[in-house]
Amino acid sequence: RKQSGLLEVEDLTAGYGAAPVLHDVRFTVRPGQIVAVLGANGAGKTTLLRALSGLVEADHGRIVFDGEDLRDVKVEQMVRRGIAHVPEGRGVVTELTVDENLRLGGLWRRDRADAARALDEVYDLFPALAQRRASAGHQLSGGERQMLALGRALIGRPRLLLLDEPSLGLAPRITAQILALLRELRDRTGLAVLLVEQNVRSALSVADEGIVLSLGRVVTRNSAADLRDDADLRHAYLGF
Ligand code: ATP
Repeated sequence: RKQSGLLEVEDLTAGYGAAPVLHDVRFTVRPGQIVAVLGANGAGKTTLLRALSGLVEADHGRIVFDGEDLRDVKVEQMVRRGIAHVPEGRGVVTELTVDENLRLGGLWRRDRADAARALDEVYDLFPALAQRRASAGHQLSGGERQMLALGRALIGRPRLLLLDEPSLGLAPRITAQILALLRELRDRTGLAVLLVEQNVRSALSVADEGIVLSLGRVVTRNSAADLRDDADLRHAYLGF
């Protein structure tokens, strides 16, 4: 069957044990699209990202990335396929310097020259990281850590970025900066982003579309503008 999306999720049912968290989740992400994943605490947003990057096994359904069924792809191969997951909490190695953390993101790459170029690009994109090149991870502010996690993911030149709660613990101004950067990256490289955000207003300000999860099911998918304007939906699922 012909695939139109970069990522096609079909009837995905997944969870941690006998009782699934996600039920028959179905949606598509096109290249260059920023899709916000919205929903209350416990709706299954983090579990969805984990299922997409292979950290949670699917009980049922299919995840197709660039025409390839991901069922048989190992977790450590996902990044080579072009899927980068920046988890909540970010996973910066606090004992290592900024530069070492970034280089970790490119260790697997065979094209050393391009990994080096990507490193330079990340420093251009985040001047704050360039200034703190030699600082240890534990010396960074929350915003700098988030930039580092994002930068490390970008060294692999992903085509799809799975981004979990980038605004967590950050000042609104820093959050706005990071989200604006996603659009810039999208425009420049065609990066697609699946963005999990508690801060619905921020998420919808940057996303093209949103999907709303409730109790592990997709209850709505719509353009970001329509989701912003849908008062009933906001009251029912998004709490504002
Ligand atoms: P939050 O914004 O609070 O992180 P979420 O929408 O991301 O919420 P998930 O973290 O995906 O939701 O959690 C969905 C459900 O899965 C919850 O009921 C949660 O208790 C359960 N859950 C999450 N992680 C695990 C785990 N490691 N083992 C078992 N159950 C889990």
